[in-house]
Amino acid sequence: MSRPSVVVVGGGISALAAAWELTGGVDGPNDTTPRVEVIEASGRWGGSLATTTFAGRTIDLGADGFLARRPEAVTLVDELGLHEELEAVNASGASIYLHGALYELPTGLVLGVPTDLAATLHFAGLTWRARLAARRDAYLPRRLEVGEDATIGDIVRRKLGRELSYQLIEPMIGGIQAGRIDELSAKSVFPALLDAAKKGGSLMRALRHSGPVNPGPAGEVVPSAPAFYSLRHGVGSLPVELVARLSARGVVLRTDVSVTALRRTPAGDYPWEVDTVHTTTPANAIVLATPAPVAGALLASFDAALDELRRIPSASTAIVTFALAREEITLLETGTGVLVPLGTTWSGDGSMMVTAITLLDRKWPRHVRDEDVILRAHVGRSDDTRASEMDDDELVTRVRAELAVLLPRFGSPSATLVQRWPHGLPQYLLGHEERVARARAASARLSVALAGNAYDGVGVPASIGSGRRAAREVLASLAISPRVT
Ligand SMILES: Cc1cc2nc3c(=O)[nH]c(=O)nc-3n(C[C@H](O)[C@H](O)[C@H](O)COP(=O)(O)OP(=O)(O)OC[C@H]3O[C@@H](n4cnc5c(N)ncnc54)[C@H](O)[C@@H]3O)c2cc1C
Repeated sequence: MSRPSVVVVGGGISALAAAWELTGGVDGPNDTTPRVEVIEASGRWGGSLATTTFAGRTIDLGADGFLARRPEAVTLVDELGLHEELEAVNASGASIYLHGALYELPTGLVLGVPTDLAATLHFAGLTWRARLAARRDAYLPRRLEVGEDATIGDIVRRKLGRELSYQLIEPMIGGIQAGRIDELSAKSVFPALLDAAKKGGSLMRALRHSGPVNPGPAGEVVPSAPAFYSLRHGVGSLPVELVARLSARGVVLRTDVSVTALRRTPAGDYPWEVDTVHTTTPANAIVLATPAPVAGALLASFDAALDELRRIPSASTAIVTFALAREEITLLETGTGVLVPLGTTWSGDGSMMVTAITLLDRKWPRHVRDEDVILRAHVGRSDDTRASEMDDDELVTRVRAELAVLLPRFGSPSATLVQRWPHGLPQYLLGHEERVARARAASARLSVALAGNAYDGVGVPASIGSGRRAAREVLASLAISPRVT
């Protein structure tokens, strides 16, 4: 047989990581390396990772950092020889806007869930009722009936009460996923919480003694790492660098062209044909690294379990980035940002739309300048689509009005940038893990591997891990041994 052919559909970080692994990873290609073609629908590589120049800096438009204690992103950065590019997060802590004032978050939160009773009781942002609920956690209910899975909200509400759940836990965990704790699956998003609930007794104590919340797939953690890393040229420089390396390896890289169909061929060396509007590429195997509904649509006719991927919902969000001369703004003394609980009322129309503020130059030393500060405001949740209905000018006006309330002082920005991420964050609802397992079993029978943030975790490290895992599955199906790492 001639050289096997693998098509990678998508051009986000999971697709590019898959292509890296397919072409030998850190060792590079050898005689058995398949022909690899990567096809991306949009005009640029990186998907949710992208940088731009703003207020004299290179800033990220999507993900601006990644967990350092999970190994996948750091490993890839090292393999690309970019270790010197890693930039550790510069500050810790954040504030939350509650009842019209800003409060520094208490210590000991694990994905927003308190684990330190004393710190929680001293946290001035809570009512006496919430403090009482925190105290009751040790005793009531002694055991929760959670079954195989439960929503995060179902667990924390019953153990810690409504106020802690919606005013502290949801802003943090829901913020990362842009989802609602009453919808997100504990098993898929926060397995340590489900384990703690099953164990019975105090949720806080069980979580305090549980392992890391976000280990790698085999439970690996990088113990001495800081909490987060960025890259000196932005997280969005990672896909750019990968594309350059893949091109040097002879990978065929195509942008501005969508894959429109995946067809089985009845005979011949290549069981698949991958169609775009202009071309057909024969393939022995496929890595499908698109959003899940696209994967579902491309594979729906082959198996009902694959059709189900279309039902994985996602949240649309937007980020508005501002630069302000120092004299135009007064910030809190410490911390990297502000969380805003959903439903927060103010003098304006409806509840606040801003869900979080990130102080970019507090977080990343490369952004610090004497003359100005940069920050970004996040809007949009799975059930808050108001931003999508506004044009950019309306959105900026609204966000500025909210920031003027949320921050001690927010004057006139010298630069403003709106970046929208339609359907950027998949929602892991109840039954997610089983749905993904069924789809993966069906796709494996077809020599198609599923990769991306809809399956193994939404963060950058999980997406990289997902791409590399898919590549190893494909190499195994072609009977090419993956490298031993
Ligand atoms: C606003 C935002 C902020 C985030 N912040 C962080 C953060 O700080 N830290 C962190 O770890 N993670 C963060 N994330 C999550 C992380 O960035 C993403 O989960 C990750 O980058 C997803 O990579 P992916 O390759 O799986 O998917 P994507 O980046 O979505 O890539 C999928 C690609 O498939 C392409 N495609 C779709 N249909 C087709 C088709 N028919 N043919 C060909 N190509 C197609 C799309 O154009 C897209 O480029 C954030 C995400 C968002 C949206």
